[in-house]
Amino acid sequence: MTVNSAVNGTSGGYPPDGAQARQARELLQEERRTRIAQLTVLEHAEDGAPDEGTLARRESLQGTLEEIDAALTRLTDGTYGVCEDCRKPVPEGRLEIIPYARRCVQCQQRRR
Ligand SMILES: [Zn+2]
Repeated sequence: MTVNSAVNGTSGGYPPDGAQARQARELLQEERRTRIAQLTVLEHAEDGAPDEGTLARRESLQGTLEEIDAALTRLTDGTYGVCEDCRKPVPEGRLEIIPYARRCVQCQQRRR
């Protein structure tokens, strides 16, 4: 992806039918499959009660899955790729690494 997302769209979001949205959707669906596979492995690896580490890992995977679903919803309504806090476009490089990111790096760091 080399196109500057800042030049297209008025809201800064990805147009739902655009090539960028399609690409993001594919990335998200791949992430989703990976997380579900990891979750399945965790659930089947348990003998008796799961330990704390497994529970924490499972919870974090479920949290990520929810974020992925939320991102897929944003793709559908055209708000994907816009920072939730400052409303500026989230850099493409960040979305390639974390396709379900809700915020730009600056806003995310401010929350920690
Ligand atoms: Zn921001």
